Amino acid sequence: VRDLVVVGGGPAGLATAILAAQAGLATTLVERRWFPVDKPCGEGLMPEGVRALRAMGVRVDESFPFEGIRYVDDGRVAEARFHHGPGLGIRRTVLSQGMVNRAVELGVEVLERSPARDVVANGDRVRISLDSGSLESKWLALANGNGNLLREPPVDRRESFRRYGYRRHYRRRPWSSFVEVHWGRGAEAYVTPVSENEVGLAFLFHEAAPTWESMLARFPALEERLEGCAPNSPLAGAGPMRRRMRSVASPRVALVGDASGYVDALTGDGVALAFECARALVSSLVAGSLAGYDKGHRRTTRRYRVMTELALILTRRPLARRVVVASLGTYPRLFESLLSFSRGSDIE
Ligand SMILES: Cc1cc2nc3c(=O)[nH]c(=O)nc-3n(C[C@H](O)[C@H](O)[C@H](O)COP(=O)(O)OP(=O)(O)OC[C@H]3O[C@@H](n4cnc5c(N)ncnc54)[C@H](O)[C@@H]3O)c2cc1C
Repeated sequence: VRDLVVVGGGPAGLATAILAAQAGLATTLVERRWFPVDKPCGEGLMPEGVRALRAMGVRVDESFPFEGIRYVDDGRVAEARFHHGPGLGIRRTVLSQGMVNRAVELGVEVLERSPARDVVANGDRVRISLDSGSLESKWLALANGNGNLLREPPVDRRESFRRYGYRRHYRRRPWSSFVEVHWGRGAEAYVTPVSENEVGLAFLFHEAAPTWESMLARFPALEERLEGCAPNSPLAGAGPMRRRMRSVASPRVALVGDASGYVDALTGDGVALAFECARALVSSLVAGSLAGYDKGHRRTTRRYRVMTELALILTRRPLARRVVVASLGTYPRLFESLLSFSRGSDIE
């Protein structure tokens, strides 16, 4: 019997599989789609994530380093630089390919186009049903993002505060070595350089199904930058984003990545955080019990949750936000300290 089955081949699932294989666990990963897997995302990988990627031995074909975060709000600008290496703008397809290559290289059995249909934990085994049959393992890591396989649904989706995201790419030279967050009326725009001649643009917003053009029209400075540039990818949407789980571990099954809970994309921490949770999970598996994972997960995600909730408040209060952005612009060290607090110790 294999040690671990991972359901879901996004960043969380792939990181779990890679780290498990590095730790000597016999691991199978099942993904419902073909690799490389795409996903609507801002595609800014924070510096801790870049380091984690390196530690996993993942090589990626194409990416673009960014040196910090820049907020732009109604003409006010605030910037914070990273002090321990850059972040990386990276297309999800490129990240997916690099990670799955590494997993295979380490001996992970990867099953594509294999949606998991059901999971049943029974004593010291878990059975995962696929269309082609079933798998058995000692442990199961559910890294299926927003999907639901467990009978217990997420406990909190806060209907009143649903947020959605769009993304698209444009062929043009990046104009900045920062990830730019532009705050606008009821929405934010995230600009991430992803290669020498490609820029990703993502919007986060509250209302259901606006058009891409109506979103872009809220950010005239970006509209101007992108005028005449050809879109490089189709429009893709995601959401609602918020998801909270009562618990992330039972004796045989653990949740990791977005499947284990998510607040919002506005801090750009999702992938780096997924890598950290994967590391916490594999440490528990190596220790032979998931008993400590719930606590470890809560500790790993606490600061992200607090800072994201605080930042979310600002999305709804333009006046307060302008004051905050102006202050952070005046005191960049404060901005750097806040970012540092939200994500551990990278910016100091
Ligand atoms: C608009 C937007 C912008 C964002 N911007 C950023 C950013 O700039 N930086 C950042 O770090 N994060 C960002 N995020 C967050 C980031 O995208 C997520 O946190 C990250 O994708 C989580 O990875 P995951 O592996 O948990 O989930 P996912 O990436 O969703 O992967 C889940 C995988 O599971 C597979 N799957 C689902 N069900 C099954 C099944 N039954 N059987 C088999 N496979 C299954 C899916 O096909 C998918 O491949 C953003 C999110 C959004 C929505």
